[in-house]
Amino acid sequence: MKIRNFLFNPTKIILAGLNYRDHAKEMKMKIPKEPVIFLKPATTLIGHQDEIIYPPGVKRLDYEAELAVVIKKRARNVSLQQAKEYILGYTCLNDVTARDLQKKDGQWTRAKSFDSFCPVGPCLATDLDTSDLRIQAYLNGKLKQDSTTSQLIFSVEYLVSFVSKIMTILPGDIISTGTPPGTSPMHPGDTIEVKIEGVGTLRNYVK
Ligand code: MG
Repeated sequence: MKIRNFLFNPTKIILAGLNYRDHAKEMKMKIPKEPVIFLKPATTLIGHQDEIIYPPGVKRLDYEAELAVVIKKRARNVSLQQAKEYILGYTCLNDVTARDLQKKDGQWTRAKSFDSFCPVGPCLATDLDTSDLRIQAYLNGKLKQDSTTSQLIFSVEYLVSFVSKIMTILPGDIISTGTPPGTSPMHPGDTIEVKIEGVGTLRNYVK
C-alpha cells in the first residue's frame, strides 16, 4: 500500500552516515563496526516538488539519495527481531548537505541543518521488503547514483534497534539509512530526483 498524503510531525530526523559497502569502497574507508548517526532538525523537512533553497555563502551543495523509514509507535530498547513492528512505512529522502561546511566545521550540524535540506516523499510505502531495492539519483535527468539496498552495511531494522537503544523514538520520527556512491554538487535551477524501487520518485528543484 502507498500512503500519498502522509503527515510528518517528527520530533527528530535521525540519519546514518557511511552505510553502503560500495560507498565505503569508493571512499577507500573501512567498513564501520557500528553505525555513525547524526540528526537534522524537523525544520529541514520539505515535500515532493518543493524547492531546496541554496543558502547564500555555501560553495558546494550535494544531494544524497537515501531510503528512510517513518516510525509507527514509541520505540525504546527494541530488539532487532522486533524492529519491523515499529516501522510505519518507507520513503525516499534527500540528505542535502553543504559539503564545504561539513569539511570546514568538522562536525555536521550546520552543513546538514539549513531549512529545506530534507526533502521526503513522494509517498509512504508499507509492506516493503527492503533487502534488495534499487536506489538512484537523477540530476537534471542524468543518472548519478545507482545502487541497491543489498549494499547496506546496517539494515533498516538494525538501525531502528540501534537508535532505540540510545533515544526514545516517537511516532512520525524518521530514520534514514545513508547514501550510496555518486553524490555530486547541485546548482540553482537544477532538478534533483531520488528514485527507489517500490516507493517512487521524489523530485525537488534547487532555488
Ligand atoms: Mg546522508
